[in-house]
Amino acid sequence: MVKSRFAPSPTGNLHIGGARTALFNYLYTKHHGGIFVLRIEDTDVERSKDEYVKDILGGLSWLGIHWDEGPYYQMDRMDLYREHAYRLLDQGCAYKCYCTAEMLEEKRKKALKEGGKPHYDRTCRDLPADDTSNEGKPFVIRFRSPVSGEVSFTDLIRGRITFKCEELDDLIIFRTDSTPTYNFTVVIDDALMGITHIVRGDDHINNTPRQILIYEALKYPVPQFAHVPLIHGKDKARLSKRHGATSLLEYRNEGFLPEALMNYLARLGWAHGDQEIFSQQELIEKFDLPAVGKSPSVFDMDKLTWLNGHYLKTLPAEDVAGRLLPFLEGMGIKAAADSRLVRVVVNLRERARTLKEMAQMAEYFFRDDFALDEAARAKFLTPATKPILVDFAEGLKGVASMDEEETLKTLIEGLTKKYNAKPVGIIQPVRVALCGRTVSPGIFEVIAILGKEAVEKRLVRAIESIQ
Ligand code: GLU
Repeated sequence: MVKSRFAPSPTGNLHIGGARTALFNYLYTKHHGGIFVLRIEDTDVERSKDEYVKDILGGLSWLGIHWDEGPYYQMDRMDLYREHAYRLLDQGCAYKCYCTAEMLEEKRKKALKEGGKPHYDRTCRDLPADDTSNEGKPFVIRFRSPVSGEVSFTDLIRGRITFKCEELDDLIIFRTDSTPTYNFTVVIDDALMGITHIVRGDDHINNTPRQILIYEALKYPVPQFAHVPLIHGKDKARLSKRHGATSLLEYRNEGFLPEALMNYLARLGWAHGDQEIFSQQELIEKFDLPAVGKSPSVFDMDKLTWLNGHYLKTLPAEDVAGRLLPFLEGMGIKAAADSRLVRVVVNLRERARTLKEMAQMAEYFFRDDFALDEAARAKFLTPATKPILVDFAEGLKGVASMDEEETLKTLIEGLTKKYNAKPVGIIQPVRVALCGRTVSPGIFEVIAILGKEAVEKRLVRAIESIQ
């Protein structure tokens, strides 16, 4: 049985890289019918914040990642860490170190000067058991790392990785203030929670041999590891604010759909032939770790936007209408997810790339005081077009329903003859009068959605605005 976990530290919002790590864990686990655990690693009391926990939980739920167990909080598990640290002390696999920060700094400088590695020199490693000279002094607990030999593991993405023990320090597992360190708590939790697979960013590769040694000292089975390459911006630098939004929920606020983000993040470093579009179900069926690439993936906003457009076009219009409401509300527009809004969606979704964009495009359907494009007004609401608008408004009076497309067509055809104009010469002034811009869905759709009253009102207003 596969059991995996996502173990974020709540020291910031859930970012794109974290969301992808969570997703890879989730997909791999569900593919194998396993259990996915959420664990909040909140031992950094200074930097951990409740608002970040909220953002992480909210972000995962929005994306459609559901955890089977948790969230567990490390701060609730302090007794377990202490108990294990003392177990290691009793076994002789760890020792108390009394070196002060100043002493360590001096040792570090000296080692660097002598061209060595700035490792802890193990002064306290072999203090005699009956030594009383340090009694009562503050201490840290260090792990007694082997001084020779190797630690190896087979990474599910990168293959065999070997570290020499001489590269590894005697790691601090408990600080002077009695707080445990990451490399220690992570092992205790993963072991006690029965985690079989650890999927995480490859910035953790160097921690892995240290963690393996702790598993071995405690006689816990060592899980399998898969280190996922980081995400880069187009300039090959690690993804950061500079490259645009990095927080997952910022994408929601910008009008991206969770389906698009999930699809995009899954493809960020993983491929299945040249297929681009995947539903969540398909991802679960097809995702596997060996197909994850070894090199960093590049975050491509254009592709994400394209995928978002795809889902806007293909999800049921009723569904999109419901999701559009908060964006309209954000613009101060109160609408309902009724058949009218669905019709607006059907007409706008070929061009809108995000819900936010769609809401902006939809503005004139919901309020009369929509923004008027000045250039459009100057070009199409002129003394020359005024009589066209007057005639059009007059002609409309005889049309009973704004859904009568044929009657409206006949009206426009009549005007093309009268003014010796092309249809566009009639339609564009009408469009600008109704929508305030030169681009909109088909004019008959616009008229039908707006309804007679709004159409007449806007025509009159446009006519009156022309000097
Ligand atoms: N809390 C660690 C982090 O956010 C977890 C790393 C791990 O998955 O082991 O980087």
